[in-house]
Amino acid sequence: MGEYINVAETFGCDVFNDSVMQERLPKKVYKELKKTIQEGKELSMEIADVVAHEMKEWAIEKGATHYSHWFQPLTGVTAEKHDAFITAPMENGKVLMSFSGKELIKGEPDASSFPSGGLRATFEARGYTAWDCTSPAFVRHDAAGGILCIPTAFCSYTGEALDQKTPLLRSMEAVNTQALRLIRLFGNTTSKKVTPSVGAEQEYFLIDKDKWLQRKDLTYTGRTLFGAMPPKGQEMDDHYLGTIRQRISAYMKEVNEECWKLGISAKTQHNEVAPAQHELAPIYEAANVAADHNQMMMRILKKVASRHGMRCLLHEKPFAGVNGSGKHNNWSLTTDDGINLLEPGKTPHENIQFLLVLTCILKAVDEHADLLRESAADVGNDHRLGGNEAPPAVISVFLGEQLEDVLEQLISTGMATHSKKGSKLETGVKTLPDFMKDATDRNRTSPFAFTGNKFEFRMVGSRDSISSCNVVLNTIAAEVFKEACDRLEAAPDFELAVHDLIKEYATDHQRIVFNGNGYAPEWEEEAKRRGLPILRSMVDAIPALTTEKSVKLFESFGVFTRAELESRAEIQYEIYAKAINIEAKTMIDIATKQIIPAVIKYTTVLAQSINEVKAVGEIDTSVQLGLLKEASKLLKETNIAMKALGDLVAEFPSYPEGEDRAKFCRNQIVPAMEALRAPVDALEMIVDKEMWPMPSYGDLIFEV
Ligand code: ADP
Ligand code: MG
Repeated sequence: MGEYINVAETFGCDVFNDSVMQERLPKKVYKELKKTIQEGKELSMEIADVVAHEMKEWAIEKGATHYSHWFQPLTGVTAEKHDAFITAPMENGKVLMSFSGKELIKGEPDASSFPSGGLRATFEARGYTAWDCTSPAFVRHDAAGGILCIPTAFCSYTGEALDQKTPLLRSMEAVNTQALRLIRLFGNTTSKKVTPSVGAEQEYFLIDKDKWLQRKDLTYTGRTLFGAMPPKGQEMDDHYLGTIRQRISAYMKEVNEECWKLGISAKTQHNEVAPAQHELAPIYEAANVAADHNQMMMRILKKVASRHGMRCLLHEKPFAGVNGSGKHNNWSLTTDDGINLLEPGKTPHENIQFLLVLTCILKAVDEHADLLRESAADVGNDHRLGGNEAPPAVISVFLGEQLEDVLEQLISTGMATHSKKGSKLETGVKTLPDFMKDATDRNRTSPFAFTGNKFEFRMVGSRDSISSCNVVLNTIAAEVFKEACDRLEAAPDFELAVHDLIKEYATDHQRIVFNGNGYAPEWEEEAKRRGLPILRSMVDAIPALTTEKSVKLFESFGVFTRAELESRAEIQYEIYAKAINIEAKTMIDIATKQIIPAVIKYTTVLAQSINEVKAVGEIDTSVQLGLLKEASKLLKETNIAMKALGDLVAEFPSYPEGEDRAKFCRNQIVPAMEALRAPVDALEMIVDKEMWPMPSYGDLIFEV
């Protein structure tokens, strides 16, 4: 069924990647460009002109008519403006197709309509986009035709970052510098670069488009604001890794093909825990490319869904009562010659470099747990973190049995002498092969888990950019690496000093390690005792951005200035308040125009039925009467809750933009929304399904 493509041939066919550059660019130009890409050497305009010309020729062959600087402002989505390659018509009335080096490396979108958090006064509207040549350009095909997309960073006239990419690139430089210092201390003289590698597993829901259209909450806010649980949820665990239905398979096939064409190595796909929930994971790559690719993948997921009569929901919690969606951010540090600094080897206790890197990361995460938590703060994620699903809102690190044991040996005796080994897996079936199992089982509840040769940060929301968390991970790692290198470089006896340092870090930051069940209620108590930050909501997390500790961290590595951090905090507050306000208004809209009228109709039908049945004679109408009373009571509660919410929404503009407004939303509007939802969901359970004005949860998640 369907057409088959040759994956190896198709992969990257719409990407201006290394092999295309090598093939099309003059040797000298190619070499210069590679130097820029690999070593950060500045690119001359002459070289840029040649690259731009070849890029345009290639793009036109791929069907492109326009180019676009593609960037990631702080709106949470990507931005682009398309410019046709055409020049002004010549005397003969014809046009040429042109694209200059200057157009390739620099763009000037009007920045005034993007969030800047007070960084840029509105009269200084100038913003610049600058080519990130380390993330390949690509031709995207859609209804607009072929567009040559150039990944770019977005800054203000005075150089402040207005986007996700700029700080990410800065943080990658910071961790590169410090990690190189660290491996040099261990005698590595050959690696030239250390890059954070990232693989982001993406979760999403698919629902039927026609049903989506009937849900104003989904169309306006991306999540359901009302909805009673169907008789069946996810309790049977029959969706996770279950057989993928044909409609979904056809969708996944097309998503993969679109990803592959754009050089996104879509690799693993499966059904997730909740009904209608799925996951797609690509193979890891450099952090900035992974961040770009994740944005592209989210777009593809949505676009292909429309073609298949479905909607892809990327919201963190589209449905209450079933699992929400996240994005597991797998992170490690890799050298240009392929060494993973987080690879423990078979005998981690002997791998001193690994133990140093590991304990540095423990210290980094312990000292900046609040920032890491903040990096995953997103309006939708508030419904997910701390709910009874992955992961809790408290940051802790899972190391697993083997490493925890090594760490304990270090702390108690100052020496690690052995590593626990994995044992043979015995199934009790002769025909099954025996194999060695890992030394450590998995842990599904930890927000930051060591998984063999990488850390998996599981807090990020499904809709969010992965840039923020990687900015934090890279920078906090850089800070501790720097401290360690400063000390080790000055130490008279390296062996002794490194040994002491590992022991010190392990001992001082032991409290961040937690190998138990992150969902257990006792854990929160325990976390409190350990003094770990418990930041339940986005609004509680935002202040972490602007503490003196945070400003010092980011300023010392040139990742963010104080002003940039303050602006980001401001934007986060605004995003939160705006999103909640929209949700509240949507609830009122639905309650007023759909729910209350439907319930009135229903109660009228009941009342009529009672009268008509009674007219027949002495027949028992207690059931109808009971329902009528119950529905009328809930109707009244709905009306009261709706009025209360309406009053609060009317107060919203009187709070100054920023923290005050966000707190008002969090502390007053959110509880009022919950108060309105309760009677409506109770009504949905008793009102005639035919009369309920929108598809139910059951219709949405079981009938895709
Ligand atoms: P899981 O069992 O958690 O799904 P996988 O092995 O499937 O784990 O990997 C999940 C993601 O982690 C993938 O995107 C994969 O490419 C990525 N990954 C694997 N190794 C590394 C690494 N060394 N650094 C960063 N990401 C990695
Ligand atoms: Mg995973």
